[in-house]
Amino acid sequence: MFEPLILENVEKSFKDGEKENHIVKNLSFSLRMGEVVAVVGPSGSGKSTFLSIAGALQSPDKGKVIVNGTDIATFNEIEKANIRLDHLGYIFQTSNLVPYLKVEEQLSLVLKMANQWSSGSKRKIKEMLSAVEMDHRAKAYPYQLSGGEKQRVAIARAFINDPEIILADEPTASLDSNRSMAIIELISQIVKEQNKSAIIVTHDEQILPLCDRIVVMRDGQLIERVG
Ligand code: ADP
Ligand code: MG
Repeated sequence: MFEPLILENVEKSFKDGEKENHIVKNLSFSLRMGEVVAVVGPSGSGKSTFLSIAGALQSPDKGKVIVNGTDIATFNEIEKANIRLDHLGYIFQTSNLVPYLKVEEQLSLVLKMANQWSSGSKRKIKEMLSAVEMDHRAKAYPYQLSGGEKQRVAIARAFINDPEIILADEPTASLDSNRSMAIIELISQIVKEQNKSAIIVTHDEQILPLCDRIVVMRDGQLIERVG
Protein backbone atom coordinates (compact mmCIF):
# COMPACT_ATOMS: atom_id res chain seq x y z
CA MET A 1 0.00 0.00 0.00
CA PHE A 2 1.27 3.48 -0.92
CA GLU A 3 2.57 5.60 1.94
CA PRO A 4 2.41 9.29 1.03
CA LEU A 5 4.48 10.27 4.08
CA ILE A 6 7.41 8.46 5.69
CA LEU A 7 9.72 9.86 8.38
CA GLU A 8 12.90 7.92 9.09
CA ASN A 9 15.16 8.52 12.09
CA VAL A 10 14.26 12.19 12.31
CA GLU A 11 16.02 14.42 14.85
CA LYS A 12 15.28 18.01 15.84
CA SER A 13 16.83 20.14 18.60
CA PHE A 14 16.35 23.75 19.61
CA LYS A 15 18.95 25.90 21.37
CA ASP A 16 17.81 27.39 24.65
CA GLY A 17 20.70 29.63 25.68
CA GLU A 18 23.61 27.27 26.28
CA LYS A 19 21.38 24.21 26.39
CA GLU A 20 20.30 22.02 23.43
CA ASN A 21 16.73 20.81 23.80
CA HIS A 22 16.42 17.55 21.92
CA ILE A 23 12.71 17.59 21.02
CA VAL A 24 12.45 14.93 18.31
CA LYS A 25 14.71 11.90 18.75
CA ASN A 26 15.17 9.16 16.20
CA LEU A 27 11.52 9.42 15.22
CA SER A 28 10.17 7.12 12.54
CA PHE A 29 6.59 7.18 11.29
CA SER A 30 4.62 6.33 8.21
CA LEU A 31 1.19 7.32 7.02
CA ARG A 32 -0.91 5.10 4.77
CA MET A 33 -3.22 6.32 2.06
CA GLY A 34 -6.83 6.52 3.28
CA GLU A 35 -6.06 6.65 6.99
CA VAL A 36 -6.64 9.28 9.67
CA VAL A 37 -4.01 9.17 12.44
CA ALA A 38 -4.40 11.01 15.73
CA VAL A 39 -1.29 12.27 17.52
CA VAL A 40 -1.68 12.78 21.27
CA GLY A 41 0.75 13.62 24.06
CA PRO A 42 1.43 16.25 26.70
CA SER A 43 1.86 19.91 25.88
CA GLY A 44 5.48 20.63 24.95
CA SER A 45 6.19 17.03 23.89
CA GLY A 46 6.94 18.04 20.30
CA LYS A 47 3.68 17.31 18.47
CA SER A 48 3.64 20.58 16.56
CA THR A 49 7.35 20.24 15.80
CA PHE A 50 6.72 16.78 14.34
CA LEU A 51 3.79 18.08 12.28
CA SER A 52 5.73 21.04 10.90
CA ILE A 53 8.63 18.78 9.86
CA ALA A 54 6.17 16.34 8.24
CA GLY A 55 4.53 19.32 6.55
CA ALA A 56 7.68 20.87 5.04
CA LEU A 57 7.31 23.95 7.25
CA GLN A 58 10.70 23.29 8.85
CA SER A 59 13.57 20.91 8.13
CA PRO A 60 14.88 18.23 10.47
CA ASP A 61 18.48 18.27 11.74
CA LYS A 62 18.86 14.67 10.61
CA GLY A 63 16.82 11.90 9.03
CA LYS A 64 14.54 11.48 6.04
CA VAL A 65 11.16 13.08 5.35
CA ILE A 66 9.72 11.33 2.33
CA VAL A 67 6.68 13.07 0.83
CA ASN A 68 5.08 11.25 -2.06
CA GLY A 69 8.30 9.35 -2.74
CA THR A 70 10.74 12.29 -2.50
CA ASP A 71 13.05 12.96 0.45
CA ILE A 72 12.52 16.65 1.24
CA ALA A 73 14.70 16.77 4.40
CA THR A 74 17.35 18.98 2.81
CA PHE A 75 15.09 20.98 0.49
CA ASN A 76 15.52 24.77 0.42
CA GLU A 77 12.66 27.21 1.11
CA ILE A 78 11.47 27.40 -2.51
CA GLU A 79 11.54 23.63 -2.95
CA LYS A 80 9.61 23.19 0.32
CA ALA A 81 7.03 25.75 -0.78
CA ASN A 82 6.43 23.78 -3.98
CA ILE A 83 6.03 20.53 -2.04
CA ARG A 84 3.52 22.25 0.24
CA LEU A 85 1.45 23.54 -2.67
CA ASP A 86 1.43 20.21 -4.49
CA HIS A 87 1.12 17.61 -1.74
CA LEU A 88 0.08 19.10 1.60
CA GLY A 89 -2.98 20.74 3.13
CA TYR A 90 -3.02 22.38 6.57
CA ILE A 91 -5.68 23.01 9.16
CA PHE A 92 -4.71 24.97 12.28
CA GLN A 93 -6.35 25.65 15.63
CA THR A 94 -7.78 28.91 14.37
CA SER A 95 -8.80 28.96 10.75
CA ASN A 96 -6.16 31.49 9.60
CA LEU A 97 -8.43 32.71 6.82
CA VAL A 98 -7.32 35.85 4.99
CA PRO A 99 -9.55 38.59 6.50
CA TYR A 100 -10.11 40.58 3.30
CA LEU A 101 -10.97 37.64 1.03
CA LYS A 102 -14.43 36.15 0.52
CA VAL A 103 -14.89 32.45 1.25
CA GLU A 104 -14.63 31.42 -2.42
CA GLU A 105 -11.56 33.61 -2.86
CA GLN A 106 -9.78 31.81 0.01
CA LEU A 107 -9.93 28.69 -2.18
CA SER A 108 -9.15 30.31 -5.53
CA LEU A 109 -6.02 31.86 -4.02
CA VAL A 110 -4.67 28.38 -3.20
CA LEU A 111 -5.34 27.07 -6.71
CA LYS A 112 -3.67 30.10 -8.27
CA MET A 113 -0.63 29.83 -6.00
CA ALA A 114 -0.33 26.13 -6.87
CA ASN A 115 -0.64 26.95 -10.60
CA GLN A 116 -3.76 24.78 -10.71
CA TRP A 117 -6.19 27.46 -11.93
CA SER A 118 -8.18 26.27 -14.94
CA SER A 119 -11.58 26.57 -16.60
CA GLY A 120 -13.02 23.99 -14.18
CA SER A 121 -11.78 25.70 -11.03
CA LYS A 122 -14.95 27.67 -10.21
CA ARG A 123 -16.94 24.48 -10.32
CA LYS A 124 -14.35 22.64 -8.23
CA ILE A 125 -14.55 25.39 -5.58
CA LYS A 126 -18.33 25.17 -5.55
CA GLU A 127 -18.20 21.39 -5.10
CA MET A 128 -15.61 21.65 -2.32
CA LEU A 129 -17.70 24.29 -0.51
CA SER A 130 -20.77 22.06 -0.91
CA ALA A 131 -18.86 19.16 0.63
CA VAL A 132 -18.31 21.24 3.78
CA GLU A 133 -21.84 22.73 3.54
CA MET A 134 -20.57 26.25 3.03
CA ASP A 135 -21.56 26.92 -0.58
CA HIS A 136 -24.35 29.24 0.58
CA ARG A 137 -21.67 31.39 2.24
CA ALA A 138 -19.32 31.61 -0.77
CA LYS A 139 -19.54 35.42 -0.87
CA ALA A 140 -19.15 35.95 2.88
CA TYR A 141 -16.07 37.39 4.57
CA PRO A 142 -14.47 35.55 7.53
CA TYR A 143 -15.77 38.08 10.10
CA GLN A 144 -19.32 37.13 9.07
CA LEU A 145 -18.79 33.46 9.98
CA SER A 146 -18.94 31.51 13.24
CA GLY A 147 -15.92 29.57 14.55
CA GLY A 148 -17.27 26.27 13.23
CA GLU A 149 -18.06 27.79 9.82
CA LYS A 150 -14.55 29.22 9.57
CA GLN A 151 -13.06 25.80 10.33
CA ARG A 152 -15.25 24.27 7.59
CA VAL A 153 -13.86 26.81 5.12
CA ALA A 154 -10.34 26.01 6.38
CA ILE A 155 -11.03 22.32 5.66
CA ALA A 156 -12.23 23.12 2.14
CA ARG A 157 -9.12 25.24 1.62
CA ALA A 158 -6.85 22.43 2.86
CA PHE A 159 -8.32 19.94 0.38
CA ILE A 160 -8.81 22.22 -2.66
CA ASN A 161 -5.36 21.66 -4.20
CA ASP A 162 -5.86 17.87 -4.05
CA PRO A 163 -3.05 17.14 -1.57
CA GLU A 164 -2.40 13.53 -0.61
CA ILE A 165 -1.73 14.57 2.98
CA ILE A 166 -3.76 16.74 5.36
CA LEU A 167 -2.09 17.97 8.54
CA ALA A 168 -4.23 19.38 11.31
CA ASP A 169 -2.81 20.90 14.51
CA GLU A 170 -5.50 20.91 17.22
CA PRO A 171 -8.24 21.78 14.71
CA THR A 172 -11.04 21.52 17.29
CA ALA A 173 -9.38 23.38 20.17
CA SER A 174 -11.53 26.48 19.69
CA LEU A 175 -14.82 24.62 19.14
CA ASP A 176 -17.50 23.16 21.39
CA SER A 177 -18.04 19.42 21.69
CA ASN A 178 -20.68 18.97 18.95
CA ARG A 179 -18.84 21.12 16.45
CA SER A 180 -15.58 19.32 17.23
CA MET A 181 -17.08 15.94 16.39
CA ALA A 182 -18.62 17.34 13.20
CA ILE A 183 -15.29 18.81 12.06
CA ILE A 184 -13.38 15.53 12.56
CA GLU A 185 -16.17 13.53 10.92
CA LEU A 186 -15.94 15.88 7.95
CA ILE A 187 -12.15 15.54 7.64
CA SER A 188 -12.44 11.75 7.92
CA GLN A 189 -15.27 11.60 5.37
CA ILE A 190 -13.31 13.56 2.75
CA VAL A 191 -10.17 11.50 3.42
CA LYS A 192 -12.12 8.28 2.77
CA GLU A 193 -14.11 9.55 -0.21
CA GLN A 194 -11.14 11.09 -1.99
CA ASN A 195 -8.55 8.54 -0.81
CA LYS A 196 -6.38 11.10 0.99
CA SER A 197 -4.65 10.75 4.36
CA ALA A 198 -4.58 12.89 7.49
CA ILE A 199 -2.66 13.46 10.70
CA ILE A 200 -4.59 15.19 13.46
CA VAL A 201 -2.76 16.48 16.55
CA THR A 202 -5.26 16.73 19.37
CA HIS A 203 -5.94 16.93 23.09
CA ASP A 204 -9.54 16.06 22.49
CA GLU A 205 -10.18 12.48 23.70
CA GLN A 206 -13.73 12.43 22.35
CA ILE A 207 -12.58 12.59 18.73
CA LEU A 208 -10.18 9.62 19.02
CA PRO A 209 -12.80 6.95 18.17
CA LEU A 210 -13.24 8.72 14.83
CA CYS A 211 -9.57 8.12 13.91
CA ASP A 212 -8.11 4.91 12.45
CA ARG A 213 -4.97 4.90 14.56
CA ILE A 214 -3.64 6.73 17.61
CA VAL A 215 0.04 7.47 18.24
CA VAL A 216 1.53 9.07 21.34
CA MET A 217 4.38 11.58 21.30
CA ARG A 218 6.71 10.49 24.10
CA ASP A 219 10.42 11.18 24.66
CA GLY A 220 10.69 12.57 21.14
CA GLN A 221 9.18 9.54 19.43
CA LEU A 222 5.78 8.41 18.19
CA ILE A 223 4.54 5.22 19.83
CA GLU A 224 1.48 3.30 18.72
CA ARG A 225 -1.31 3.49 21.32
CA VAL A 226 -3.27 0.31 21.65
CA GLY A 227 -6.73 0.13 23.19
P1 ADP B 1 3.55 20.49 21.46
O1 ADP B 1 2.94 20.84 20.15
O2 ADP B 1 3.54 19.02 21.77
O3 ADP B 1 2.95 21.26 22.60
P2 ADP B 1 5.92 21.78 20.41
O4 ADP B 1 6.38 20.95 19.27
O5 ADP B 1 5.20 23.03 20.09
O6 ADP B 1 5.11 20.87 21.43
O7 ADP B 1 7.19 22.19 21.28
C1 ADP B 1 8.06 21.24 21.87
C2 ADP B 1 9.18 21.98 22.57
O8 ADP B 1 10.03 22.57 21.61
C3 ADP B 1 8.71 23.10 23.48
O9 ADP B 1 9.52 23.07 24.62
C4 ADP B 1 8.97 24.33 22.66
O10 ADP B 1 9.22 25.43 23.48
C5 ADP B 1 10.18 23.95 21.85
N1 ADP B 1 10.22 24.64 20.56
C6 ADP B 1 9.37 24.44 19.53
N2 ADP B 1 9.69 25.23 18.49
C7 ADP B 1 10.78 25.94 18.86
C8 ADP B 1 11.60 26.92 18.22
N3 ADP B 1 11.36 27.32 16.97
N4 ADP B 1 12.62 27.42 18.92
C9 ADP B 1 12.88 27.02 20.19
N5 ADP B 1 12.16 26.11 20.85
C10 ADP B 1 11.11 25.55 20.19
MG1 MG C 1 1.38 22.13 19.61
